[in-house]
Amino acid sequence: MTFRMTVIGCSGSYPGPESPASSYLLECAHEGRTWRILMDLGSGALGVLHRYADPLQIDAVFLSHLHADHCLDLCGYYVLRRYHPTGHAGRIPVWGPHGTADRMARAYDLPLDPGMHEEFDFRIHDGLPVQVGPFSVVTTPVVHPVEAYALRVTAEGRTLTFSGDTGPCRGLDEAAAGADLLLAEAAFMEGKDNPPDLHLTGREAGEAATKAGVGRLVLTHVPAWHDPKVALEEAADVYDGPIDLAHTGAVYKI
Ligand SMILES: [Zn+2]
Ligand SMILES: [Zn+2]
Repeated sequence: MTFRMTVIGCSGSYPGPESPASSYLLECAHEGRTWRILMDLGSGALGVLHRYADPLQIDAVFLSHLHADHCLDLCGYYVLRRYHPTGHAGRIPVWGPHGTADRMARAYDLPLDPGMHEEFDFRIHDGLPVQVGPFSVVTTPVVHPVEAYALRVTAEGRTLTFSGDTGPCRGLDEAAAGADLLLAEAAFMEGKDNPPDLHLTGREAGEAATKAGVGRLVLTHVPAWHDPKVALEEAADVYDGPIDLAHTGAVYKI
């Protein structure tokens, strides 16, 4: 048995013409049903999610950080769960950085109380393993201008690591160590005046994959203003394993 990831959105920093911003659906059959978690729900992702799963059949959401391209469609998802014609959909857990509940309420212009607390059970990343059905999720702090995390997800003995947004750092290396698949952002290109502690280049994503000894590298979060093939070429210079560019609808068996 394995679990699988469907790329819902992979565009970096804002939705592009071919993809929403960051969101990934993980599914795993376990004890007679399919469990589903989302990593991020960035701008534009909720619409595309409908193609691949019933949005009411999501068991939990994990937010890597609170930049708009990673969390903003929680606003639409709040409406969907609260006002769906079949009735209020109840609460599901949403793990995120400190301040997630208030930030999302402000994003929707809701009063902070109740904000979205009737739809989402907000919980803060604390580094301890979180269990959702067959999924065990561990978050590791990474370097970005805001509180941000890499996610390491294990199910059925297989492991996927998602970099979130980060520059090269030990947290990313730890989160990725030995993973079967590393989903790594590659928002930057080599040779530019890239600020530190913000994003990875394709080359840096490849270097992280090599250092961690991962089985496969999937590059994501390339902004629409860049050619993703450049990220692929950069990564291929420094990582010998299989490399893919994420695209909406791509499915990976982990
Ligand atoms: Zn981002
Ligand atoms: Zn970010």
